[in-house]
Amino acid sequence: MYSGHIPAEDIFKLVYVPFTVPEGISEIRVKEVYSDQGKNVLNLGIYGPEGYELGNSAGFRGWSGGAKTEFFLNAAEASTGYIPGKIKPGTWNTIIYPSTIIPEGIDWQLEVTLITGTDKTPFKITPAVEVVNRQPGWYRGDLHMHTYHSDGKRTQQDLLDEATANGLDFVVSTEHNTNSANLSWGHYKTDKLLVLNGEEVTTTAFGHWNAIGLDAETLIEWRYSPSDNVINTYLKQVHIDNGLAIINHPFYNVERTNSFGFDVDLFDGIEVWNGKWDELDNMAVQWWDSLLRQGKAKIAIAASDSHTPVSLENALGIPQTVINSRALARQEIMAGLRAGKAYLAYNKELTISLTAKSGSSSAGIGDTLATSQGEKVQVRLSIKGAPDAVVTLIGDKGALTTEKVKGNKTELSWQVDSKSTKFLRVEIRTSKGDMVALTNPIWLS
Ligand SMILES: [Zn+2]
Ligand SMILES: [Zn+2]
Repeated sequence: MYSGHIPAEDIFKLVYVPFTVPEGISEIRVKEVYSDQGKNVLNLGIYGPEGYELGNSAGFRGWSGGAKTEFFLNAAEASTGYIPGKIKPGTWNTIIYPSTIIPEGIDWQLEVTLITGTDKTPFKITPAVEVVNRQPGWYRGDLHMHTYHSDGKRTQQDLLDEATANGLDFVVSTEHNTNSANLSWGHYKTDKLLVLNGEEVTTTAFGHWNAIGLDAETLIEWRYSPSDNVINTYLKQVHIDNGLAIINHPFYNVERTNSFGFDVDLFDGIEVWNGKWDELDNMAVQWWDSLLRQGKAKIAIAASDSHTPVSLENALGIPQTVINSRALARQEIMAGLRAGKAYLAYNKELTISLTAKSGSSSAGIGDTLATSQGEKVQVRLSIKGAPDAVVTLIGDKGALTTEKVKGNKTELSWQVDSKSTKFLRVEIRTSKGDMVALTNPIWLS
């Protein structure tokens, strides 16, 4: 039994609790008990004898944040969030991390149980299949979600069933600070659904970001602050995998200020629409728009951040990101998104197409249109599935025009002076102002 006290001022300070594992141990069980659970939150994880210094993914053996107070691991199996594998002798470290503390602090205890025995058949890493089909098209995906592998309330199979039922073509698995789910997606039969690997890199103090499109075995480090100036190392790791780094729900906190503490310039995109549309999403869209006006081409994405299978307001795929891709395959989906060839939609019923033409050149969402001297830009938009919506064409100085549409299918067209704006994008909202769909920009050169 290990115990201690964390004073309130030590919030966000990592505590490592070492223990020795002798030869012949086949399973470790850890149980955490702490004062005022519910008001206090003491996150939990573990590192093996390979070590726990920053970026040491060989030592990483699991993380459950505040979602669990006990876990086990052995050669064949582990609690969700933890990595099964041989229990090697040496010094292991349990990590505890206070993310909420009442003024009295936290009194904690850890009970570590070491079980002797012979190893069962070892766990085999089985990543998701990377190619579903080779057809070019617009593919509907949800880029942010959780299962029991972090604080979600669904199994991996539940998640795949829901995604299929909700008409998605792909999902990105994004658990908080662990890649444990990514190691086993290949165990599940998905037929037409593509599963991509990701991780929600989560610091309570400085915000959350998603690393998406990773190799299954890649683990992205989260244990640093903006002033440590090390985040570049880990963003580089994301890009080596051809992945993207997306800032999540930037206005998440109750003060409604931008709670994201890292430099936006280092990131590829922003989740401007997280789950049910609300004022925080409005603020995120405004922030993204202000960056576009500065010429910073950040990719906008929408995702459900769904945690439970039952909640209708927060179902998988509401909202979703629809990507123009050369195939339903990992590398092509990531390439389409990287190029900004994506629009954001409330659900699968909503389809839009936006094109711009100038002289003999034409461009779609994410493209750059070469504009010809003296030629007007012809913009065309078709919308399906947004009856009675309000459509706004937006440039780098704000709204260019607004129209109310009638009926389920609509075609709109406009003429724009090529020198009047550096980009064109569209927002489609209900008459009350809730977002129904928005596009990434078409850039004008
Ligand atoms: Zn989050
Ligand atoms: Zn999340």
